[in-house]
Amino acid sequence: MTTATSSPASALDAHLDAGARELLADTERRASEVFAPLARRGRDGEVDRALLAALAEQGLLARLLSRDAGGWRSEISALALCLIREGLARWCTAAETAFAMQGLGSFPLLQSGTREAIEEWIPRVASGEAAAGFALSEPQAGSDVAGLALSARRDDDAGGWRLNGQKTWISNAPDADVYSVFARTTPGAGARGLTAFLVPGGAEGLIGHRIELVSPHPIGTLVFEDVRVPPEYVLGEVDHGFAVAMRTLDMFRPSVGAFAVGMARAAIDATIAYTSEREAFGGPLARMQAVRHRLADVATRVQAARLLVHAAASAYDAGVSPTTEAAAMAKLMATEVAQEAVDAAIQLHGATALRRGHLLEHLYREVRAPRIYEGASEIQREIIARAMFARTEGR
Ligand SMILES: Cc1cc2nc3c(=O)[nH]c(=O)nc-3n(C[C@H](O)[C@H](O)[C@H](O)COP(=O)(O)OP(=O)(O)OC[C@H]3O[C@@H](n4cnc5c(N)ncnc54)[C@H](O)[C@@H]3O)c2cc1C
Repeated sequence: MTTATSSPASALDAHLDAGARELLADTERRASEVFAPLARRGRDGEVDRALLAALAEQGLLARLLSRDAGGWRSEISALALCLIREGLARWCTAAETAFAMQGLGSFPLLQSGTREAIEEWIPRVASGEAAAGFALSEPQAGSDVAGLALSARRDDDAGGWRLNGQKTWISNAPDADVYSVFARTTPGAGARGLTAFLVPGGAEGLIGHRIELVSPHPIGTLVFEDVRVPPEYVLGEVDHGFAVAMRTLDMFRPSVGAFAVGMARAAIDATIAYTSEREAFGGPLARMQAVRHRLADVATRVQAARLLVHAAASAYDAGVSPTTEAAAMAKLMATEVAQEAVDAAIQLHGATALRRGHLLEHLYREVRAPRIYEGASEIQREIIARAMFARTEGR
């Protein structure tokens, strides 16, 4: 809620309270002044250790993972997660991705891990010393999680479990120091026969390969050859790994939309600046109504998507359950609209935006993937439709 003493700078932020607005402004300042210059020195497709350390030093990782007398926990709200991701993405997509992956990779451990495993790994993830990964997708099972095949069988001789199979499209692989891995413990049981495990990146029998993407995202494949996992590295109950994955993804889904919104806002900012300067037909491009209206349309749609994202996150924080439909709407609209915004920004810049190294060339390559990961747009539409029809049937 806003108060008279903390009025927002813009009506577009009036739905956020003063603390939320400050979090967004503070994140944007750190992203532009600290993370963006650092990220320019990183190597494409590899985990940027210096950036991870900076995310810790600047206090961002402490927002994800913090410690009190009761042990390690995450106190971050879904809305705060969205504001941080939006603020980082507006200035530095590499910092955004690094930040998001520390959360996505470590939340299954934090939420469902044993005390020993938490004490061993969470401090290292929180300090930026260890990079985390979330390993769900497989070569034969992406959207259809019930089809996961990487096998985990009990190893009665050595104690614990043995993992065999492959994961692919795993962000931060093969550089990550620790992964949350979802494996099949009961064949033929669909989503009900999965278990979550913690697997260190250096585990014997774990082999990783990089995948080069259109964007500079660190990502790869993991091959498990009889990888031993001790019993204390089982996350949650055996055969209940799907719920472990969903608890993390439910928290993160609106924030994928926030990442997209941050990129869209960066594209709009750049286009306002460019079209105000660029002269054509006797004056700046920005005086032409076609240019101004295109930008106005895009900005309106981005703000609508942003409000959906913030509303879905706020519903999650308020304990409304389920928030799946609202989160799906937010992710769907924000990722689709962000693609349109970046495309429009490129059109209004002309050729210069397509030059390698231009911000918009970078955003064009970055904005595509969020429409596919953490539930492709078609999956989000299916979730929304299912909820709508179920409501109608219930009447
Ligand atoms: C940059 C990036 C980062 C990623 N990071 C991770 C990560 O860290 N961890 C991880 O586990 N995975 C990660 N992934 C993988 C991602 O989650 C999968 O790509 C996604 O789940 C889709 O799976 P798929 O690519 O196998 O496509 P498929 O499941 O084969 O689907 C292909 C296409 O078919 C359509 N489709 C699928 N199902 C339906 C349906 N029911 N109805 C209608 N249409 C449908 C959609 O258009 C979909 O895009 C990442 C992917 C990318 C691109």
